[in-house]
Amino acid sequence: MSEPRVDVVLKIGGSVITDKKNELAARTQEINRIAQEIQRADLRDLIVVHGGGSFGHPYAQRYRLKEGLKEESQKVGFSETHHVMTVLNGLVMDALVWHGVQAVSITPSSCLVTEGGRIKDFADAPLRKYLSMGFMPVLYGDAVLDTKLGFTVLSGDQLISYLASKFHAKRIVVGVDVDGVYESDPKTDHSSPLLKELDLQDLRKLQVKFGKPTSSDVTGGMPGKLIELVPAVEQGILVTVVNATKPSYVEKALKGDTVEGTIIKKG
Ligand code: ADP
Repeated sequence: MSEPRVDVVLKIGGSVITDKKNELAARTQEINRIAQEIQRADLRDLIVVHGGGSFGHPYAQRYRLKEGLKEESQKVGFSETHHVMTVLNGLVMDALVWHGVQAVSITPSSCLVTEGGRIKDFADAPLRKYLSMGFMPVLYGDAVLDTKLGFTVLSGDQLISYLASKFHAKRIVVGVDVDGVYESDPKTDHSSPLLKELDLQDLRKLQVKFGKPTSSDVTGGMPGKLIELVPAVEQGILVTVVNATKPSYVEKALKGDTVEGTIIKKG
């Protein structure tokens, strides 16, 4: 089967659609606004991935899911983590569908397995068929089965890079709660400069500077995102990191209009 074309892969950060300070706190107004922006951008060949924020992360952390299955008592944690992600995904789907977007939810834990935390088998026939029929697949960070670990946590960031590479997307748009990539975390270093343009070399230098992600976020915050994005950038996919909490930024970025943020390109 020939690969369907994908124009853009959009990531909506968990930091945007949930309040990370409060467990299970969805920002329904933000979810609605972003759904409207997606509808207005009117793109065909778009895949949307959203993060877990205060839904997935606290549960995944509580049960140490990322490290894999070590004791039976974690299994209920796997169920809880996956379940709360389906609840958040339901809210996102609700907003998209009632704004007239022909979006269809695809559950990562039901169609893919990782090996040592990396996507290995992805039964993507339905996703490809949806794409070729003009549907908009919506995926999310999830608790997933793993051939070596038993189970683990799959980040939305790994998913976007994987999907964009696999389907030769032209662009990735990453919506977060800050204005782009900074030299250091803008929430703790208020004078840190925004990096408006990065190439592959800059990205590698930044990785060395950031070191291993230390964020309490199970999927690594911005440093974790940049690590995941490297293979996609290597493939020539253009990445735009924008502040999705600012109205119309996601819409503009989806349309390819100029918008404040960070552009990451191969060279
Ligand atoms: P999301 O959950 O929306 O995917 P994350 O919370 O995982 O996003 O990552 C975004 C967060 O990363 C920002 O809110 C910011 O506090 C943090 N961060 C750490 N280092 C940086 C940096 N150098 N540039 C921008 N943000 C950074």
